[in-house]
Amino acid sequence: MAGRQAAIAHAALKRVQAELGERRLDALLVAQPENRRYLSGYSAEDNGIQESAGFLLIPESGRPRLLTDSRFTLQAEAEAPEYGIYMYRRGLVEALEELLPEMGIQQLGFEADYCLYALWLRLQALAKRLQLRLTATSGLVESLRVVKTPEELEFVRAASALNDRVFQTAFAQVQTGMSERELARLIEGTMLDLGAERPSFDTIVAFGENAAKPHAVPGGRRLVAGETVLIDMGLVLDGYCSDMSRTFVLGEPDAQYLERHRLVRVAQKAGMAAIRAGVSGSEVDRAARQVLAAGGYGEAFGHGLGHGVGLAVHEAPRLSPSGRETLEAGMVVTVEPGLYLADWGGIRLENMVIVTEAGCELLNRDSTWLDL
Ligand code: ZN
Ligand code: ZN
Repeated sequence: MAGRQAAIAHAALKRVQAELGERRLDALLVAQPENRRYLSGYSAEDNGIQESAGFLLIPESGRPRLLTDSRFTLQAEAEAPEYGIYMYRRGLVEALEELLPEMGIQQLGFEADYCLYALWLRLQALAKRLQLRLTATSGLVESLRVVKTPEELEFVRAASALNDRVFQTAFAQVQTGMSERELARLIEGTMLDLGAERPSFDTIVAFGENAAKPHAVPGGRRLVAGETVLIDMGLVLDGYCSDMSRTFVLGEPDAQYLERHRLVRVAQKAGMAAIRAGVSGSEVDRAARQVLAAGGYGEAFGHGLGHGVGLAVHEAPRLSPSGRETLEAGMVVTVEPGLYLADWGGIRLENMVIVTEAGCELLNRDSTWLDL
């Protein structure tokens, strides 16, 4: 496992260094947690943006550094052998004050999308003292993460397969009388029991009319026979995320529910059928959205059709009406049409797929509840 992650990090590091050369930057300071893990294999997690588990300082050539504090140095040494580990006692800026002149860095790039204003002010003051130039970068590492390597795709497949297993296990235990919160806890407990690092987001469980909220928070509502159960769940395995949604009815669904469920399923299939390298995110979105609109539910589908998944559960590319990115083989995306009606409830069906030249590879066991 460690070997495969080291190989991913090594290849990614070389690509970033080449990019720095193109942009005439001497180094890049990496603070964004998934970018940090991608480029180093170092898996410690931040406690929010104010309490970082470390930073990477990647020079255009030569040995990269991982800057962290004493809580994490052993882990950093074990997980990021390619990096020189620098232990700071008084924080990042003091460490940079020592390291930047030593490494001959005069043009330093930083991640504008992941920099607190307070840190920016301190970096500016440092730049003045050391007479160096700061360059804001945006999406430099993220853009490299969009197309996955074959090694990464193996991790994504495994994360999605485990998510399916967790769903099957939980599905077999759903009972009337159970609360949304109890079912969410059962799912998250099963994830950890079966070897996941953690959920990739807070599990969504919504019963009945609560399913009308696409991001419902599980509460104390108890399940009654014949009503909708909407589950949106994902886990992290070896750093890579999974994400899937299922909606079903415990007991006998009514005709209206069946009709709406079938329509969402047809929209999902239309979306998956539209995916292949070379099409845009908006074209795929349109393929599914048209089905819902033709069925009379255009207004009931408010969110985008899908999003990229990798080290982050939501990343590029976006499948939505404004999704301009062109899909490439090796991207991983969700296909998750839904319909949401206040006072009635909602239905969302979400699969994960790998984009291929000719189409896509489905990563989920397909809908088990209602095969259409
Ligand atoms: Zn989801
Ligand atoms: Zn999703």
